Amino acid sequence: MILLKLYRIVGSILSPAGKNAKLSILIYHRVLSEQDPLYSYEVTKESFNVQMSQLKAVFNVLPLAEAIERLKNGTLPARAACITFDDGYADNATTALPILQRHGLKATFFIAIGYLNGGRMFNDTVTEAIRCSSASSLDLTFMGLGSFELSSREARVRAINTILPAIKYLPVGEREALAEKIAGLATSQALPDNLMMTTAQLRSLHQAGMEIGGHTVRHPILSGLDTESARQEIIGCKRILEEQLGAPVSLFAYPNGKPGRDYLAEHVRIVGESGFSAAVTTRAGCTVDSGDMMQLPRYTPWQSDIKYFIPGLLRNLRRTAE
Ligand SMILES: [Zn+2]
Repeated sequence: MILLKLYRIVGSILSPAGKNAKLSILIYHRVLSEQDPLYSYEVTKESFNVQMSQLKAVFNVLPLAEAIERLKNGTLPARAACITFDDGYADNATTALPILQRHGLKATFFIAIGYLNGGRMFNDTVTEAIRCSSASSLDLTFMGLGSFELSSREARVRAINTILPAIKYLPVGEREALAEKIAGLATSQALPDNLMMTTAQLRSLHQAGMEIGGHTVRHPILSGLDTESARQEIIGCKRILEEQLGAPVSLFAYPNGKPGRDYLAEHVRIVGESGFSAAVTTRAGCTVDSGDMMQLPRYTPWQSDIKYFIPGLLRNLRRTAE
């Protein structure tokens, strides 16, 4: 408790209230019900619960839309923080929501709308196929990656960590087709079709008072699309989400989210023209002024050791733009 008090003092110096306030926005993707060596970078329900209790003890957690308004008005509290989730995983509704509710916290969920109701993102297709493969190796020489050992868990993690970056930047249709082809070579078993939310789960988050934001339809790297396709991805997710929720959707998250690499200036313009009032990136840092509401930086709490969770957030407050 003394440590948390000290963190609050340091936090108030780095992130004061009012005109010089800073806004920390955390990113999560999944909250697993138990530790999974193939997703070792994701939080579990236990670690997320502890993170939320520490976050609440040190920071003033606000819904993102409210924080953005207060940033513009110069009325943010000291140590202001927001919680966001990207992609639309089912565990956001089944596992994260009850923990957020227990702590009385609000979060924003950015949904890649095309994967709801049984869809699967390319990374999960590859990961889940390698998980359930009974083969001892996976030959991907046809795509210039050679052959992968699958004889141990570590070898499977290495294979996944090599394959995913090799296909991530392919056009979205090609990327999904290749992921399916790799999966077919790894296993003939059916892969899970319940990783992403259902529409009912999406609505349950919204009805619980959580904010819902757009994250495109099929999670493409926007910089690899022609302008019209990018516009359809951005406008499309907003239109479908608004239809399904019966409510306006005003926040957007760029897929992958690194400026100049995953999205370009024209996409920032399209997001604004599509009626979104603010957008978040994966650029590290915190927001220091209301200058660019369409490219807000965020912070990923990668550290698996809880003792580095708040220190990591405090360090992020000193990193204003990267
Ligand atoms: Zn994403």
